[in-house]
Order: sequence, then structure tokens, then C-alpha cells
Amino acid sequence: MATKFDMSDLIRNDHFIDGKWVASASGKRFDVTNPATGEVITAVADGNEADARAATDAAARAFPAWRDALPKERAAVLHRWHALMLENADALGRLISLEQGKPFAEGRGEVLYGASYVAWFADEATRIYGDLIPQQQRGKRMSAVREPVGIVAAITPWNFPLAMIARKIAPALAAGCTVVGKPAEDTPLTALALVHLAHEAGVPPGVLNLIAASRENAVPAVAEWLHDSRVRKITFTGSTPVGKYLARESADTLKKLSLELGGNAPFIVFDDADLAAAVSGLLVSKFRNGGQTCVCPNRVYVQSSVYEKFGDMLAKRVAALKVAPATDPSAEIGPMINARAIDKIARHVDDAVSKGARVLAGGKRLTALGSNYYAPTVLADATSTMQLSCEETFGPVVPLFRFDDEAQAIRAANDTPFGLASYFYSQDIRRIDRVVRRLEAGIVGINEGALASEAAPFGGVKESGYGREGSKYGLDDYLSIKYLCQGGLE
Ligand code: NAD
Repeated sequence: MATKFDMSDLIRNDHFIDGKWVASASGKRFDVTNPATGEVITAVADGNEADARAATDAAARAFPAWRDALPKERAAVLHRWHALMLENADALGRLISLEQGKPFAEGRGEVLYGASYVAWFADEATRIYGDLIPQQQRGKRMSAVREPVGIVAAITPWNFPLAMIARKIAPALAAGCTVVGKPAEDTPLTALALVHLAHEAGVPPGVLNLIAASRENAVPAVAEWLHDSRVRKITFTGSTPVGKYLARESADTLKKLSLELGGNAPFIVFDDADLAAAVSGLLVSKFRNGGQTCVCPNRVYVQSSVYEKFGDMLAKRVAALKVAPATDPSAEIGPMINARAIDKIARHVDDAVSKGARVLAGGKRLTALGSNYYAPTVLADATSTMQLSCEETFGPVVPLFRFDDEAQAIRAANDTPFGLASYFYSQDIRRIDRVVRRLEAGIVGINEGALASEAAPFGGVKESGYGREGSKYGLDDYLSIKYLCQGGLE
């Protein structure tokens, strides 16, 4: 049996339910396009309530056997899936670039990143311990064991079409849960390819089910899961308004929730920072995926005495970034995902300029390349009255805000309903200790712009959500604790 595939072999355009590829009950399809060119790649099955229910039915049938499989048996399947992801990293990377637009090197990097969670949770599957509770009464033994929560519904965004779904499916399967999932409408192909590889790796029928849906049909399809009491958990990565909606709508069946939501990350440069390191760290954290990540710095605060110097150093590096379609091997930034994204970026930049921001680099669409390209941009003299200070821009735009002292920087950094990532650069160890404690965020980068790791707990506070993905904590979200009390032992 072949284990290495070309990209075209990996393109699937039906739902995967109960171990089979099936069209929608309605027969409907929707187009998936290449954001670099607007060309249609393929038409994918457009799922609705009926398909979502069929997926849950399959997941419910498969659950008892998967729950009862030995942890090392579940681990072996996940390890095989991991190996197939690595073997097919080039093809998957190309598919990510095709439907999402990021340069191939980044697409391939995402495959390795997503695969690292699969390997991590394969190992974690064999380390799900319980506790024997110190005896409280004679003749009675008390213990706590961990059990899979049951069927998990996974809903993911378009910006990391492979990593976001891999880091939900892997812990769910490791814990002994079965899964129903729905990837974003802009990028369903990578997730379907991943499910294809999971099937090849020996994930049993019904254990992993994935339906695709257009934006319109996503609402009723997901609502079916929200209202079905057999689905015990929702794991969602996406925007905060949708996360809140899922929490509200699932309340009637009181599901366990993990919500990885929007961010508005601050990046603070103190005057005692190594400025060259801060510029490099900002480039890494800001321009990954063209600025379309939830942990991208959205507000950069620079202390007054180094403000102009930092702005100049940054603008030179940003102006040199190469914007091109993912097919160009020298591309550092590809197209944005769609017209809505480009319009939001342009709106934020225009609003800032109209309120006094100075353009140090970029500041315009790159229409010669196509309709979805925007120049990497640095704006000086940003203020809190501008839209980009309170909303995620989700594009290649760096607004530079000025501050005078530490307290002002912390106040400004925390002045947001969000609390996902935050970053700061300083070489003063006492300041580092103070700032770490005061930043309201689930993730803090200290003199570092690249934070992602399967060994680390990823997640937010405040309206950036709750739950953690990766690390030794990541399985907890897919397990519930059962307390056992055995009497009559004397
Ligand atoms: P989105 O919330 O619009 O969509 C995410 C997913 O939810 C998609 O699959 C979409 O089809 C589905 N969806 C949307 N509305 C729905 C509804 N009413 N009912 C059911 N499903 C619905 O987000 P997006 O635009 O795809 O992604 C960008 C957002 O994701 C940003 O806010 C970004 O910060 C966030 N994000 C967060 C993380 C994190 O780990 N915290 C990671 C990546 C992206």
C-alpha cells in the first residue's frame, strides 16, 4: 500500500464519515479557491445538519471500542499517523500553500509543527494516570481515575489549516474520545487530507469524522452538535464572537469547552532592550503567515528615548520583505486569505493615517500581484483612538505606539479585553520579573518572538478563551475525573 502521496492524491472533496468518503445528504457543494489567484481548486461537499448528525452517529458507535483500546494501542495508531504526516510533509505543505496562501517553507513548517502535537499526544496517551487517595476511613478505599469525556466536536479556523485541527484531534484520540470536526470553509482541503492519512494510519471507522461546510451551512451543521447531548465537548479555535456564541448555544447540554479565541497581542520594547534582537523578534512574531496569526503582535509599544531609532531599524527590515505568491520560492509573505481580510487591513491603515499615523513602510495594496496582496507596513505615531489599537488587524501591519515609563506600558498593554500572547524586550532582570507578573496574558515572550512548541501550554485568559493545547496539561481538556469509593474492605 502506498504511503507517500502527491499533492493531487491528497485532495479529497467529500465528507469523511464512518471510515468512508461521502457526498452531502443535500448533494450541495461549494468552491474552494486559491487566494493567490482566485482560481477554483475544487468544489467540496457542503454539509448541513444531516451530515453533522451522521458524523455524530458514527462517533457514538465507535466510542466504546476506542475508549476501551489500550493506551499503547491508541498511541501506536497516532505514531503511524505522525510518520505519514512527515513522509508527506512536502505534499501537505504544498496543499496548505495552495488553499491558504502562505509560502511553501511556512506551509511545510506548519506540517512539522502540527505533526509534533501528534507525536507528543501519542506519548501522552500512555501516561494518563489516576490517584489513590490517602485512606480516610477503615474499610474504605478512595481513588480517582481519568476517563475520556466522550464525543468531541472540533471546529477550526483557516490560518493554520493543518496545525489547528491536528492539535485538537491528537489529544482527543489519545484520551480515548471520538471526534466530529469541521474545518474552516476557506481551507477544508488540508484537514480532509489529514483525515485521509489518519485513515491510512489505522484510525478505526467512526473514530474520526470530518465534514466540510460553506459559511452559510456551518451554522446549522455546528448547531446540530451544540444541541446534541451525545457530543460532550466542543474544542474551538477562531474569533471571540463565535466562541461566545458556541458557549451560549451549548449551555443547554452543558458541554466541556476549550476556546482558543482572538488576540490583540502587545509587544513592548523598553529602552534597555537589545534593539536589534527586538527588531528580529518582532519580524518573526509579526510576519509569520503574513500577520494572520492569533499571537501576532498587534500593538507595538516603544519607549520614547529609543522610539525613532527602533522605527527606522524596523522599517528598513520590513520594506525588504518579499511579497509574492506561495509558488515563488523566495516569497516571505503571500496573499491574504480573502477580500474581507484585505478590506479590513486597508480600513485599519486608512483610519490610522487619517488620525495622524506616519507611514514608515508599505501602507498600500499591491494590486500588481493580485487583489489579495498588501505591502508589509510600519506606522509611527499610533494612538489608542485608532481602530488597530483595539481590533486584531490580522495582516502585515505594525503600529508603533510611544510610551514614557513602565507603568504606562503595562497599563496600555493590558487595556484590552483580550489576553492571549504578549511580548517584551528588556535586559533588566528586575524589570523582567515585574513585567512578567503584571501582563494579563496566557503566553509571555521575554526577549523571544517564536513561542510555539508542542511541549508548552498554549491558550489565553480574559476574552481570548480558556483551555490549553499542547504540553502535559493539554490532555486534561479531553478527560473527566471519576472518583471511586469502595467500601466493605475490612
Ligand atoms: P471564525 O471565528 O470566523 O471561524 C472559525 C471557525 O468557526 C470556522 O470553521 C467557521 O466556519 C466557524 N464558524 C464561524 N461562525 C460560526 C457559527 N455561527 N456557527 C458555527 N461555526 C461557525 O474565525 P476565522 O476568521 O476563521 O479565524 C480567525 C480568528 O481565529 C482570529 O480571531 C484569530 O485570532 C483566531 N485564532 C485563534 C487562535 C488561538 O489559538 N487562540 C489560533 C488561530 C486563530
